[in-house]
Amino acid sequence: MNKTNPEILPLRCHDCGQPALVIANGYETFYRVTSDCKPWPPGGCLARCSACGLVQNPVTKQWGEEASQIYANYTIYHQSGGAEQNVFDPQSGAGKPRSDKLIQSLRSECALPTSGRLLDIGCGNGGFLSAWSRLIPGWSLCGSEVSEKYKARVESIPGVEQLYTCDIDQIPGPFDLISLVHVLEHIPSPSDFLRRVRSKLKPGGLLFVEVPDCEQSVFMLLVADHCSHFSPPLLGGLVSAAGFEVLHATNTWVAKEVSVAARLVASPGSTAPLRLPEPDSLKVFGGWERLAAIVAKIEPLKQQANFGLFGTAIAATWLDAQTQSAARFFVEEDRNRVGRKHLGRPIFAPEDVPAQATVFVALPQPLAGQVAERLARVQRGLNVVLP
Ligand SMILES: [Zn+2]
Repeated sequence: MNKTNPEILPLRCHDCGQPALVIANGYETFYRVTSDCKPWPPGGCLARCSACGLVQNPVTKQWGEEASQIYANYTIYHQSGGAEQNVFDPQSGAGKPRSDKLIQSLRSECALPTSGRLLDIGCGNGGFLSAWSRLIPGWSLCGSEVSEKYKARVESIPGVEQLYTCDIDQIPGPFDLISLVHVLEHIPSPSDFLRRVRSKLKPGGLLFVEVPDCEQSVFMLLVADHCSHFSPPLLGGLVSAAGFEVLHATNTWVAKEVSVAARLVASPGSTAPLRLPEPDSLKVFGGWERLAAIVAKIEPLKQQANFGLFGTAIAATWLDAQTQSAARFFVEEDRNRVGRKHLGRPIFAPEDVPAQATVFVALPQPLAGQVAERLARVQRGLNVVLP
């Protein structure tokens, strides 16, 4: 055996650096998904650091190579032709862009000034910046990304100063607000990263972080290019330890997601090692065992002639890979996606699903139950199965 092979050295936590990772045995047999909703082969690793409590995909050479490969082929919101993901009102099913909902929540909960300077780190094609420009004009906006792919598009948004592709330390600050929307879960050593973000804020400046809620949605544990997995108390704990006063740590702004709004405090915080709340850390890590139960439930359905999956995002993409592409169709309430194809098969609106079909709702509870009620209202003959 080659003792210098880095893959056989004890794995270290990518945040606290301790060789204290507890591995989820059996996780490596599951298919995975990329964060832009494409199937990804099995062979991953899920772990929990028993020193700091971070639930993670260990940042190994393999993880880094897979993440690079995923980003090289990245397509934002390809299921809707580039339009931002909608979020839905549980009763009416009416949708609005996710950024609109986030900005409205921030504005009503955090007393935002009418003008200021915002940096959106990992701004993608500018969805959050353009919603901000429309809803709170008067702010000066900057974006940061790893590539210049969407430079022209981002810089054409009213109020945008510039898109930066340099290291965050080189971006000219300071800022009144820095946002990280679906970014922190991709970044190794998130505590270090938050300390670097901190140095770009004005005194009393705000930090806004949005990540998936892996306690509510266990499917998010299968995203191959994520390296940290959070719930509201876990993200709140990490942000607080990095020298912020946490104003909100909630999963009520957008379903299945954690939103943390925090204010920079004068002292840089304690230098004690990170310790996330243990019950919350164990709860998020334990979620992977529920994935096996979901696979057992969907297995007998795939033989049925008219079998489909509700959803075209992470959960549906994973379940389709896990059942060897058994779904004949996908179902969506998002009108930007209806009529297109996902993984080569049609995306139907609820009213267009074939009669007598079986539809597995690829969403966590209680959202899955709400969807089932809405489906039953438009299509009586459907056999709707919940996870
Ligand atoms: Zn750790």
